[in-house]
Amino acid sequence: MDSEKRQLHLFFLPFLASGHLIPAIDMAKQFALRGLKISIITTPLNASLFSKTIEKSKTMGLDMNVLVVEFPCIEVGLPIGCESYQLATSLDLRTKFYQATAKLEQPLKKLIQEYAPDCLVASTLLILHSMSFFSMCTAECLRLYEPQKKVSSDAEPFIIPNFPDEIKLTRKQLPDFYTQNVQTYATKLYEQGLEAELTSFGAKVLGRKAWQIGPVSLCNLDAEDKAQRGKEASIDCHECFEWLNSKKPDSVVYVCFGSMANFNDSQLKEIAIGLEASEQQFIWVVRKEKNDGGKEEWLPDGFEQRVKGKGLIIRGWAPQMMILDHEAVGGFVTHSGWNSTLEGVSTGLPMVTWPVSAEQFFNEKFVTQILRIGVAVGAQQWARFVGDSIKSEAIEKAVIRIMVGAEAEEIRSRARELGKRAKKAVEEGGSSYSDLNSLIEELRSHGIAGAASKN
Ligand code: UDP
Repeated sequence: MDSEKRQLHLFFLPFLASGHLIPAIDMAKQFALRGLKISIITTPLNASLFSKTIEKSKTMGLDMNVLVVEFPCIEVGLPIGCESYQLATSLDLRTKFYQATAKLEQPLKKLIQEYAPDCLVASTLLILHSMSFFSMCTAECLRLYEPQKKVSSDAEPFIIPNFPDEIKLTRKQLPDFYTQNVQTYATKLYEQGLEAELTSFGAKVLGRKAWQIGPVSLCNLDAEDKAQRGKEASIDCHECFEWLNSKKPDSVVYVCFGSMANFNDSQLKEIAIGLEASEQQFIWVVRKEKNDGGKEEWLPDGFEQRVKGKGLIIRGWAPQMMILDHEAVGGFVTHSGWNSTLEGVSTGLPMVTWPVSAEQFFNEKFVTQILRIGVAVGAQQWARFVGDSIKSEAIEKAVIRIMVGAEAEEIRSRARELGKRAKKAVEEGGSSYSDLNSLIEELRSHGIAGAASKN
């Protein structure tokens, strides 16, 4: 068959966590929009979370489908249905979760034999990173030069070697595997991943070539797509939209800490007090369900009454892209997860950075020091499960700094400019658009596994 015409078939195997699945599906859509066939491989629970998105893409004529594989919960001792990383809430459960993930290799191999796709976007042929170049370089410099070992205490700052800017971190802000010197199941998988990357298509053929595609969240153009991203929202999206419509431009701060970060009740109370004291309007996403009539210990007495009309609490999952994109929203308090950060950049918003886990402390440096579109709330301690405690006064001060006054205006104008550049990047002729084209061309011309394809 003429290789120019033959439809390329891509397999996507995203890690089973919202922060990976959401951008992977957005990315998959970008390829499907260029006429490629996409199969997303995932487990039953995760497949149900984005079934609407897949249905919608089909009605738009995109060639996207899902291949479901069972997640071997019972085999490794995980509770049935624990198919998402955020449901693995202890170290033991996380280890088992990684073991179950590793066991997906066999069913994956079977699917590859059956469908003979041209490319696997995951960990063997093409790597999809859901981290920034900045954070990847930081991680690599920590691994290679170990500046964290040359300071005498956990709180003493060290400089990341070989960076053009002076970026300082402390050991407290690093993921524990940099400091504990123990090899966990997760670090082993990470090392295997790194090895796979170095032998991947991008690396082997082209010398670790990278294609800069995104921000992928910008492919969700209509309100329904933005609202349905990731999971079903816990609030009536129309109601939320109406609420925002009643507000002036740039007058609402949106507070959300992604899909994983947890805070204890006393910290949530500090957030409530800080938000109220800032006198700003807000939407605050709290990942706690409302218990039947019982008192919610994390809410200060009479809080919801006092902030009625001024503040909206979403308990559960928020339609984040829809909210960030609304003109009434003028600031974003974020845990600095890379997806949230990119979404904040794409929508031109000043940010309060409040890193908790993963590479979020690196992203904070990028946002506050390099892009200069945010202010740090002051978190000092990296945490696997529960975030560092921050006092209400610090929250109040940081929120005011990005919402009111001359400094806020300066930050906002820089953020707006970046937002415009992000949008340009994904438009026809933009850098992301061209990179996606050249990646597709490379895949075509190398014809990876092409001849055997069943397309
Ligand atoms: N998200 C959302 N609603 C929520 C919480 C999160 O839509 O209530 C989305 C958010 O838009 C982002 C992703 O979930 O795309 C979270 O990814 P990120 O990398 O920011 O953080 P993680 O959850 O991986 O810590």
